Amino acid sequence: MAVAGRCFSPRCRTAVEDLAPRTAVFGDILLGGTPIDDGMLTVFRAPASYTGEDVVEITCHGGVLVTQRVLEAVFAAGAIPAPAGEFTRRAFLNGKLSLTKAEAVGEILEAKSDAQLRVAASQRRGALSEKIEAAAHGLTALVAAVYAKIDYPDEDLAEISDAEFVERANAVCTDLAHLKDTYRTGSAIFEGINTVICGAPNRGKSSLYNAIAGEEAAIVTEIAGTTRDTLERDLPLGSVLLHLTDTAGIRETADIVEQIGVKRAEEKLQSAELIFCVLDGAKPLEDEDRALFATLQNVSAPKIAIINKADLGCLPLDLPSGLFCDTVSISAARGEGIDRLQAAVEALFLQDAIDTANDAIVTSARQFASLGEAIDRIADAVAVVEGGMGTDLAASDLERAVAALDELDGRTVCEEVVSEIFSKFCVGK
Ligand code: GDP
Repeated sequence: MAVAGRCFSPRCRTAVEDLAPRTAVFGDILLGGTPIDDGMLTVFRAPASYTGEDVVEITCHGGVLVTQRVLEAVFAAGAIPAPAGEFTRRAFLNGKLSLTKAEAVGEILEAKSDAQLRVAASQRRGALSEKIEAAAHGLTALVAAVYAKIDYPDEDLAEISDAEFVERANAVCTDLAHLKDTYRTGSAIFEGINTVICGAPNRGKSSLYNAIAGEEAAIVTEIAGTTRDTLERDLPLGSVLLHLTDTAGIRETADIVEQIGVKRAEEKLQSAELIFCVLDGAKPLEDEDRALFATLQNVSAPKIAIINKADLGCLPLDLPSGLFCDTVSISAARGEGIDRLQAAVEALFLQDAIDTANDAIVTSARQFASLGEAIDRIADAVAVVEGGMGTDLAASDLERAVAALDELDGRTVCEEVVSEIFSKFCVGK
């Protein structure tokens, strides 16, 4: 408030410090006492603000130079620039946001696809937080019931039977396992699917890459062997994100530079999560295609056969049975059929039952790992009780499960994790 009082003079002549919460006033922005622009100042008072602290927002005209001068004015008045994620970090530390909600703010800011935005908005509203809280609550109630009986044996407290303990713990475990399972969809949307485009030379790999990118990212020529190294980029395809690699055509070659590219392409295949195998639908299969099929037999990722050049009319190709999980015909040069490819990929990686606009979805490896830990600890507790060692011993395993859930949503998270999360924000927000 004091900083704003030094660089903003309301026309209504009320001092900034005396303005009522959530009011917006018109006034002059001052640099060294001289007006440099006029605009609005909005006041939020703790705790009813985004960060939970006293906050003022100054709205000025939008030119480059004028905003630079306004920044100079606020810095001269004593403000300091916010590092990446500072406002959301403060909101989290002041208890205004859970950690998964804070992470969702970062995901909204960084969103590269509508699906990312949709999921992040739902997590920001608390879809994931609510599930975690309900699970933590269910476990805590169970632990409390067990300990209450131990601490107050003379009170008339209902004893939790082994069967009831196991049933209640398993119910929470099932809910968490469902949640953990959503990471398949969450990671396809946010972290991306490692996807490799492969095919013999001249089948249209670079054209496919460009059709997905929506621009000329890869060089397309009629000369076989033009793509001599791998080309990688994160590209949205409908709701999923592809970490897409265009490889050098896999073939026998004497060119030493191309040989290195071909070797890299083979390595990429082994670490891929999805493979697009591009074939020329207008020509019969050649030995190079068959050699690639043989290589792909030893690659575990799901493979989609992409029959390209559909605009030239497709011949029936004799594909090895069982090698491809789907076949899609396209014309990469004309950008036709990419919607069918998108549907095939979404069918493989997105779970139908998940409503991305409303359901709780696990979107990061951090959240996935914490959930795994909680599930394992609940399984330990159930094993203890089923092994006849008693609910009081098992309760300490459940406490560990609660600790993992607390860490997931930030109730007990360590400073390094907080720093890591907020360092991913690209702007002060
Ligand atoms: P790559 O060597 O597998 O990367 O193949 P390119 O993408 O460089 O394409 C090889 C040649 O096929 C180029 O002349 C392209 O213009 C042509 N081509 C690629 N896709 C299509 C298509 O869908 N239809 C037709 N008619 N030609 C295509």
